[in-house]
Amino acid sequence: GDLAPVTVAGLGPMGAALAEAFLAAGNPTTVWNRTAAKAEPLVARGARHATTLTEAGEASPLLVICVTDYPSAKAIIEGAGSALAGRTVVNLSSSTPDEAREAVGLAAGFGAAYLDGTIMVPTNLIGTEHAVFFYSGSRPVYDAQLAALKSLGGDHKFLGADPGLAVLYNTALLGLMWAMANGYLHAAALVGTAKATAAEFAPVALDWLVPSVVTPILHSMTKDLDTGVYPGDAGTVQMNLNAADHLVETSRSQGISTLVPSFLRQMLAATVEAGHGEGNYSAMIEVLRKPSD
Ligand code: NDP
Repeated sequence: GDLAPVTVAGLGPMGAALAEAFLAAGNPTTVWNRTAAKAEPLVARGARHATTLTEAGEASPLLVICVTDYPSAKAIIEGAGSALAGRTVVNLSSSTPDEAREAVGLAAGFGAAYLDGTIMVPTNLIGTEHAVFFYSGSRPVYDAQLAALKSLGGDHKFLGADPGLAVLYNTALLGLMWAMANGYLHAAALVGTAKATAAEFAPVALDWLVPSVVTPILHSMTKDLDTGVYPGDAGTVQMNLNAADHLVETSRSQGISTLVPSFLRQMLAATVEAGHGEGNYSAMIEVLRKPSD
């Protein structure tokens, strides 16, 4: 067909999943990996193997990089060098916002356009409708590459002109996921003291969490976070602090760790101390928006 040729550099679990999705969609796909042997299964499925970065760069108008971190991605861009002139690099490797901004200039130095992106799902969802990708930076570069990127399946979101936005959202959402996972682990440990198995607890907990109770609460916080007004008429930080005290005490008396709830207790206490005890739970953002000492 007329699908765009693509090169994938980096064939760890995620890079290999990306290359497989491009192959499955029918894009002529070239692969490169520092450890060349990882290209073999993809070559067996029809990929072309670039053994040098020059070859990798020259093989396609689009080079998708998916490696451990920015220094590794940088080594690939520098290794391909002027082979990238007139082409586009889409970097889907983890990095920091500053590194994402730096990469634009690095690629431009070799005459290449650059788009930063992040992958928001595990490898098994790549190539399915449930895949989620974030991008940020040059909108024209995104628009030009979207057709090729759609071979990876799912939802592609452009977040804005600052190249650092995609990785900023990525790390923020990982923090959200870990905070939720920590709460879930603590809750499982707590009901486990009454011999409840995770299999018994999960349906009760997860049905309650999404979508019936917790997600609507998070939606309802949005306005307060943007206005900086935290009406406490339906519940205050002080009330939550009392409830967190019960969670700490119950964890202690049931003989499990208080690590997770004491952290929550500490956040609530700091918010009361900052003068927001009569505000609602969203007022904790006042503490979180300031740097830690
Ligand atoms: P890794 O993060 O372990 O990346 C492995 C790849 O990086 C390999 O191809 C490896 O090459 C390459 N690499 C490491 N250092 C260098 C270097 N200095 N020069 C060239 N290549 C290098 O595994 P994943 O594939 O899982 O992750 C890739 C990216 O995708 C990461 O940024 C990760 O955060 C992101 N991601 C992964 C998800 C997942 O579920 N796996 C989910 C969402 C995002 P070699 O084989 O030679 O060692």
